[in-house]
Amino acid sequence: MRKELLNKNLQNLPAIDKVLNQDSIKVWVAEIGGNTQTAIVRKAVEVLRNKLIENYETGKTLADLSKEHLLQAATENAFLIYNVRENKKLRKVVNATGVLIHTNLGRVPLSEASKQAITESSSSYCNLEFDLSSGARGARGDGAEVLLCELTGAEDALIVNNCAAATVLVLSSLSNGGEVIISRGELVEIGGDFRVPDVMNVSGAKLVEIGTTNRTKLQDYEMAITHETSLILKVHPSNYKIIGFTESPEVAELARLAQKNDILLYEDAGSGAMVDLSEYGLGDEPLIKASIEAGADVVTFSGDKLLGSVQAGLIVGKARAISRLRKNPLYRALRGSKIIYAALEATFKAYIGNSQFTDVPVLRMLTEDYDELEIRAKNLVGKLSKIETVGAEIKEGFSAIGGGAAPEVKLHSPLISASVDGYSTSELLNFLRNFEVPVIARIFDENLLMDLRTVSETEESILLEAFQAASRLKKKEKATQK
Ligand SMILES: *Cc1c(COP(=O)(O)O)cnc(C)c1O
Repeated sequence: MRKELLNKNLQNLPAIDKVLNQDSIKVWVAEIGGNTQTAIVRKAVEVLRNKLIENYETGKTLADLSKEHLLQAATENAFLIYNVRENKKLRKVVNATGVLIHTNLGRVPLSEASKQAITESSSSYCNLEFDLSSGARGARGDGAEVLLCELTGAEDALIVNNCAAATVLVLSSLSNGGEVIISRGELVEIGGDFRVPDVMNVSGAKLVEIGTTNRTKLQDYEMAITHETSLILKVHPSNYKIIGFTESPEVAELARLAQKNDILLYEDAGSGAMVDLSEYGLGDEPLIKASIEAGADVVTFSGDKLLGSVQAGLIVGKARAISRLRKNPLYRALRGSKIIYAALEATFKAYIGNSQFTDVPVLRMLTEDYDELEIRAKNLVGKLSKIETVGAEIKEGFSAIGGGAAPEVKLHSPLISASVDGYSTSELLNFLRNFEVPVIARIFDENLLMDLRTVSETEESILLEAFQAASRLKKKEKATQK
């Protein structure tokens, strides 16, 4: 009986053309084009169909729905989709630039487990600061911060909104307005608005510069220590590299010096690495565990660089130092949200289970080898070349780490160089960027290039659709000119 009613309702669903012919929807063509209009309507009918089936499967009471009613419902769905599409500022894009940590494109995608954890903790209430065993108040760090200690060997950990916030919190809590010693080679600017001297200023610390841009010796640190000194700061100059005649002391040497003088050593690792990535050319990124082992009192790094999770500032170190941060009223202003804790907990679990190279997207992309990428690229080039007026071929090139990490590292990758008749390279770049799902490619040597290292396999069909649309549009333009 219910099954029959469901089938009747499904039969009464409007045809796509019927919805497209509604006056209120017809007018969209001029604004968004026929393809997008049809795609929206298709989606609207599909959503309605799924809803009917879902109601049936979950045992809801079914109504006998007329054709008019369902046409109306489909039209309303179409308007909902249209409005969201037109008004949303923040949208999914396909990153075909080959830059792994792309700050302008949201840095890095999250693991499946992290996405699930975010949904679970935020679509209802969660036990963020509630201890389920006792029913008393709990600490938000009980999950992620405990795992972070396990991963790095640190005594304690604290999580804030980003690494810049971590730096401000550490410097203001531990410098006490005293002198902070830093090498001239590490007075860096990271990403335009993060300059180490400015952060020092905001934190009330007095900057003491030592050494030269390319060489700073242990002795330089030793000589700069006075009664006013509270900290030695070591900053990993993430986005540039001095090569040639260079020198800077090891973390272990600085840690010994700090301890001897009863001051603290703080290392801002920037990206850092949780596991050894030297095999992939990232041997210069500080291994967080190694810095802790070498005796650094505090180490800070980003959640959304090579770690591969959400925007967050991760602070690890000795219990005495971290407890001073936790007690600083500033911590209350900088502490992470439940979304940060949920995502990080899931990411840390991947590292603990040693599945980071398959589960964490940025590491999966980093370690995908040339041959695997070439198989994917050849396959896509085959499909692209079948589209009328589209030309595509593979060129050897490089992907970049980005995000101010490892500027000298280039990953060997096959790139797809593509063109469509009637478009200049920059016109095609613009077309792709303005596609329904924006595709961000790059231009090199007058060629439009797409790098599949940063494109997931499920996104390949979007690239294909974008080129089909580009080709169709030019054909249509030609036809109307005749
Ligand atoms: C990236 C970086 C920062 C800033 O980190 P955010 O998480 O973007 O705030 C600070 N210090 C160093 C050395 C960095 O590389």
